[in-house]
Amino acid sequence: MALTITVANEKGGVGKTTTAVNLAAGLALRLADRPGPAGRVLLVDMDPQGHALLATAFGQPPVQPADSLASLLTETPPPSVQRLIQRSTHHDNLFYIPSHRASMVEAARVLPTLMANETRLARALSPVAHQFAYVIIDTPPNTGDLLVNALVAGDAVIIPVETSYLGVSGLRELERTIEQIRMLFRPELKILGYLPTLLEEQRGEAQEILVELEKRYRGYILPPIHRSSDLAYAHSSHVDVFTYRPPRQRRGEQIASSSRPTQEYAQLVDLVLQRTNSGGTYAA
Ligand code: ADP
Ligand code: MG
Repeated sequence: MALTITVANEKGGVGKTTTAVNLAAGLALRLADRPGPAGRVLLVDMDPQGHALLATAFGQPPVQPADSLASLLTETPPPSVQRLIQRSTHHDNLFYIPSHRASMVEAARVLPTLMANETRLARALSPVAHQFAYVIIDTPPNTGDLLVNALVAGDAVIIPVETSYLGVSGLRELERTIEQIRMLFRPELKILGYLPTLLEEQRGEAQEILVELEKRYRGYILPPIHRSSDLAYAHSSHVDVFTYRPPRQRRGEQIASSSRPTQEYAQLVDLVLQRTNSGGTYAA
């Protein structure tokens, strides 16, 4: 049965999509030699704004509304989830359900009027849960039914936090949402960790913020991801960082075999594998 990890933060621009894409791709690389479902990863794009990235992130053309995630959320009964799943062109064992911007915006609008509006994603994904080792869900940058659906469908949450003063404020609202989801739907939903992102050590506040995060969430802080142009370029080239080749490398120049962002996301992948394989040694 797949373990589902939701990547969430109500703020935009904090590295959710970057983390979801690279975590999914990194897990697929690590699990590639395992046969069948134990080696397969599914990435679910719940972010209307992530459409441009995720619909083409793995080299596929944009999708039609009827082939996108929104139909799973709004149609009763939902269409076959199997039909919506696409295979990445970069990793044979990485699959995704694409988003479609206008349809997701419409889904967010109509969900409150539908029955079982908080549990629709969880229900829709359950028929394929046995086909994957991990399901990673990218979420929109706001509260509302899309985020609630993504959390209700999750076993664990990773919360990317921009390493800035503004980044650490406003986490309380997400924590309250998670608390309510535990009370109402999913008592077993865990916080796998807070992931400091966009870290720039030369900025004076960075160390202070890391110390503050450690104080607030002792033991829950994942190893930080530094700000790196490779991540931004990979994102705009619609590939994950493990697949991305920087221009200097394409020109044949020698560079370190593994760049810092590659190592940092690989470390996150290994930590996730460790904590989730060993059955419940989550931080919270
Ligand atoms: P969110 O999904 O939370 O809105 P994104 O993952 O889309 O955030 O990141 C916002 C922007 O910052 C994107 O342009 C992305 O390429 C860039 N970005 C994300 N993480 C990093 C990083 N560690 N270093 C440099 N740029 C990053
Ligand atoms: Mg995003």
